[in-house]
Amino acid sequence: MLDATTHHVSTDEQHRRTASCRIREITVTPVAFADPPLLNSVGVHEPFALRAIIVVHTENGHYGLGETYGDEAHVARLRRAAEELIGADPFNLNLIARLVSQSLAQDDGQGGHGTGGMVTTTSLDDRVLSAFNVACLDIQGKILGLPVSTLLGGCVREHVDFSGYLFYKWANHPGQEPDRWGAAVDPAGIVSQARIMVNDYGFRALKLKGGVFPPDLEAEAVEALHQEFPDIPLRLDPNGVWSVPTAIKVGHRLESSLEYLEDPCLSIADNAAVRAEVALPLATNMCVVAFDDLPPAIEAKAVDIVLSDHHFWGGLSRSKLLSGMAETFGLRLSMHSNSHLGISFAAMIHLAAATENIDYACDTHWPWKREEDDVIVPGVLSIHEGRVKVPTAPGLGIELDVQALARMHQQYLDCGLRQRNDTGYMQSIDPSYELKSPRW
Ligand SMILES: [Mg+2]
Repeated sequence: MLDATTHHVSTDEQHRRTASCRIREITVTPVAFADPPLLNSVGVHEPFALRAIIVVHTENGHYGLGETYGDEAHVARLRRAAEELIGADPFNLNLIARLVSQSLAQDDGQGGHGTGGMVTTTSLDDRVLSAFNVACLDIQGKILGLPVSTLLGGCVREHVDFSGYLFYKWANHPGQEPDRWGAAVDPAGIVSQARIMVNDYGFRALKLKGGVFPPDLEAEAVEALHQEFPDIPLRLDPNGVWSVPTAIKVGHRLESSLEYLEDPCLSIADNAAVRAEVALPLATNMCVVAFDDLPPAIEAKAVDIVLSDHHFWGGLSRSKLLSGMAETFGLRLSMHSNSHLGISFAAMIHLAAATENIDYACDTHWPWKREEDDVIVPGVLSIHEGRVKVPTAPGLGIELDVQALARMHQQYLDCGLRQRNDTGYMQSIDPSYELKSPRW
């Protein structure tokens, strides 16, 4: 039982621990890492993917890590927010959120979405807050000697399942040697790529990024995967470039071979029209990307599954809020991914480990990056049998490799890219390429 004395002792102890852990300094470092020519509905991945690495230092010598988009406009906002946070208590996540919002009060919200123009309606405040929330939780965990999953309510699973993320792709970027994956521009190529994913990583779910080729060809690829891997759940994501009639037609065709269909159309209304006709769960990371999207999507019965993504849902704390809302309204959760490094991966793993209703295998781009391209000390995060063991060391359970951060920042400076532009890169190779929505 807690008596008054104990209470005073614990309060004093808490004060002692946190009084000296105010935020002293924050560094925001853009980095770049090699990315294969992965095709999507707006073009093709450029030779380098950009990220920003946040390191929050406290007065008592702890540091916390966060990772987010590396677009120039986003980096500028991160730096403005970082200035506001000096002197703040990393245990007061509500204050951190308020200070970040204050730093954005005069912001026009233009640019810096980090998704190549594909998802542009995320909340500005949540997008900027996310990496600071993760870094503060990392610090809290290090000070308290607890993993972030414990701070988020405790592990409900010791391993987190991921899906193998298949992409149509070229064998190489123009002027480069072919990569280890080779080309995948037809069903046979996708099946070959899936074999590598399944053999090397043991994935027990597969997702195909669609919206690249005419829907019949992509449906053919899904059917070829289903034939090759009859026991593996499959997802297809055309990134909202199908019309309602196309989505209904292709959806019917794939009813027996898909686990879920992701963003067949772009809007809540159009996905609701598809969902009413097709006997497949619909998932989204495009029409429900912020808390404001939940009421209209629920009202319209537009989707079954929200692909959570802490990078645009305000970090791990607010992703837990999303989890509660999903439970309340009977939505299920999976997880979305962009090209990312180890800090984001660790954060995704802790969140999924501590969130009961993220119970689908989550997306990750992890296999698409080179092992040497990371800013953390290697060895903690690896995929075996399609899953990753949740780190148990304090905080995120990972350490910053300072030399690697410097090397990858130099790579950023050298590569010349300052914002993700899949469409511009595609048009530099194929000048006739046009953006269309819907495309089919
Ligand atoms: Mg998606």
